[in-house]
Amino acid sequence: MTAPLIAGNWKMNGLGKDLAEARAVADSLAETPARARVAICPPATLLARMAEALAGSAVALGGQDCHAEPSGAFTGDISAEMLADAGARLVIVGHSERRAGHGETDAMVAAKASAATRAGLEPIVCVGETRAQRDAGQALEVICRQVAGSIPAGMAEGSFALAYEPIWAIGAGSTPTSDEIVAAHAALREALVECAGSAGRTAPILYGGSVKPDNAAEILKLAEVGGALVGGASLRAADFLAIIRA
Ligand code: PEP
Repeated sequence: MTAPLIAGNWKMNGLGKDLAEARAVADSLAETPARARVAICPPATLLARMAEALAGSAVALGGQDCHAEPSGAFTGDISAEMLADAGARLVIVGHSERRAGHGETDAMVAAKASAATRAGLEPIVCVGETRAQRDAGQALEVICRQVAGSIPAGMAEGSFALAYEPIWAIGAGSTPTSDEIVAAHAALREALVECAGSAGRTAPILYGGSVKPDNAAEILKLAEVGGALVGGASLRAADFLAIIRA
């Protein structure tokens, strides 16, 4: 069985002083290795310093977004090649905060995921429904449609991960029920196999949305949950480590 992936998304949080939290995670894993693969995705301003802080550790570095092009006149953007050059091994693409706040469509997310693989990074492709879509009974249809549009054709086995992040659970302090998570992940697995064949059969499907030390074990043991994408609780080493240990 492949190791689950626990990825921390620091979002627009973190200054130089907060590198100590990432270092504390790395130190703890050096002392007592985890069964999980672990990654931290800091803001771009911390990538180079965090790469130094995590060098030789069991914690991989990730970006939070990338542009689809390798270089060019795209002020303020960062390419997948630049992330790789800074020491990243993964990148989150299609996070709901990018889809909602920056108008990212499924096609744009697929182009970013392709760019990530072109640069040798593992994309974590995010999908998730709104509260209104769930209340209308459309959750599974919406997230499966997002998968079909956001996973590029021809992905190789072991080259990407999917994250199911119900938008209404992000930063909310509440999560779907276990049954709802299991149903979503089962539907996502089918959608992945349909669009990516054998690569879709083995890609880890992470759950994200208010994962905390006190609910992580319960969520991570559910069928087809291959890890977690963790926002707020990844900012403090003690909380993130408790989730990794779960
Ligand atoms: C996220 O935004 O990726 C996320 C999972 O956030 P939180 O854990 O804070 O809900």
